[in-house]
Amino acid sequence: MKTVKNPETISKSLKKFKLKGKSIGFVPTMGALHAGHLSLIREAAKENKIIVVSIFVNPTQFGPQEDLKSYPRPIKKDLLLCQKEGVEYVFLPQVKDIYPRGFSTYVNVEGLSDLLCGKARPGHFRGVATVVTKLFNIIQPDTAYFGQKDAQQAMIIQRMAKDLNMPVKIKVIATAREKDGLALSSRNVYLSKNERKDALVLSKALNLAKILIKGGAKDTGRIISRMKQLIISKKSAKINYIAVVDPMNLKPLKKISGDYLIALAVSIGKIRLIDNFQGRLY
Ligand code: AMP
Repeated sequence: MKTVKNPETISKSLKKFKLKGKSIGFVPTMGALHAGHLSLIREAAKENKIIVVSIFVNPTQFGPQEDLKSYPRPIKKDLLLCQKEGVEYVFLPQVKDIYPRGFSTYVNVEGLSDLLCGKARPGHFRGVATVVTKLFNIIQPDTAYFGQKDAQQAMIIQRMAKDLNMPVKIKVIATAREKDGLALSSRNVYLSKNERKDALVLSKALNLAKILIKGGAKDTGRIISRMKQLIISKKSAKINYIAVVDPMNLKPLKKISGDYLIALAVSIGKIRLIDNFQGRLY
């Protein structure tokens, strides 16, 4: 396994494989790898000859009050995990190489970026879309893998790749969860023991919604209010949003019908967690 810091160096190395017709599967991450990231890497390995993982804590997607500085960076452990998974290249760029002096070009996926998580985190998706564009240009992957856990991010990337004719296929991989249902996240390590227990309320609220819908509930206002009741029963939980939306455009749905996405963001203590469920009512 090779670790490369310099964007030009990795571009050059990967071009050799491209010329030989070897497909490149790419998994962009911010590190602190867990089983969710590994499921993306494994899917990439199934479908490609060369696997590239990037680890870059992207400053432009963090707000001024957010956890950029304290974001976990267990780089040694991450590299060991990548090696175990048979990753060929780990790209570890430095901020100065991704955003050199004078950098002034950003990618903004309009409409989708201001809703849900984008409301609470202005500029977040602009940062994501910009860095992913740059990473795509550097790596030039055949296929890039993203997690359904960040449903809005995956949608935005798909939209962006389509809108800008990016020659890359985007694949979205199911959310990996702890045994008890908590969606895996690099931020889970910040949770105290009690908060970890309370954090289960996100997946429980989604399960409640699923049960209600299975039982015939269609009114999204009612479903959301039942989810709210459950979540606020936990002392450490503070709801940012609960939304039932059309997964094509993230617009709120009044009634469940056809495809729907139930997404929520809840702070458990100081840790903001997200989860979602995408379903279809026939
Ligand atoms: P991050 O390191 O948090 O930026 O995540 C890198 C990629 O891993 C993104 O595409 C995430 O959606 C994906 N990911 C994060 N958590 C999970 C999870 N629990 N299951 C599946 N994919 C995930």
